Amino acid sequence: MEFHVITLFPEMFVALDAGLLGRARNQGRIVLTTHNLRDHGLGNYRQVDDAPYGGGSGMVMRPEPIAAAIDAVAAAHPGLVKILMTPQGAPFTQAAARELAFADGLMLIAGRYEGFDERVRTLADREISIGDYVLSGGELPAMVVIEAVARLVPGVLGNPASLDEESFADAALLEYPQYTRPEEFRGMRVPEVLLSGDHGKIRAWRQSEARRRTARRRPGLGGAPRKA
Ligand code: SAM
Repeated sequence: MEFHVITLFPEMFVALDAGLLGRARNQGRIVLTTHNLRDHGLGNYRQVDDAPYGGGSGMVMRPEPIAAAIDAVAAAHPGLVKILMTPQGAPFTQAAARELAFADGLMLIAGRYEGFDERVRTLADREISIGDYVLSGGELPAMVVIEAVARLVPGVLGNPASLDEESFADAALLEYPQYTRPEEFRGMRVPEVLLSGDHGKIRAWRQSEARRRTARRRPGLGGAPRKA
């Protein structure tokens, strides 16, 4: 799967050289390409921002450089889903990640300053927010989307079965509590059922713990459970 990011800070994406994604990129399962918005900037200073009409603090990203960057990437890589990173977008969820993992590729557009000129919205297929808080740029949000989607691409995760059991795999549940060695840590013992070797009992315990934990921590977590 291909990920293309339009950004003023391509150097930030070295974070995705590490771990699972780094390995997936080395194996060619994932291709990540950054495109410097500055290359499409206007005039000698490669300007990408300007003062807001109507006054106010900060600068707004002009539409022409973004449009030129989007057109250039789309011409070279047709079929990408174009996603604007914005705190005003649809909240990003595991369900959205699952849906996006079916795409041939994504084009993620990272904003800076006070955000995009309103007309930029017409250039994207969708708008995504990673949460109800404001960051200074769309690079980290784009990385969040890439990481969440890329690990769903077949072959990226060493053990794909773990996708079925983790939090949000079933839209309405958090994952059950997990334990590893030692059997006792600072007086806290691993629940006996997990040491029993009885897989039926273990499955039932995990299901009930997942329900209990979800009710306590995220009572509002809803949506229909995912079909198998
Ligand atoms: N003035 C904008 C507003 O109030 O909606 C916020 C602009 S923010 C400082 C600059 C850029 O960071 C945005 O254009 C967007 O690309 C990115 N950004 C910040 N928070 C984000 C979030 N929660 N989700 C996605 N992108 C975000």
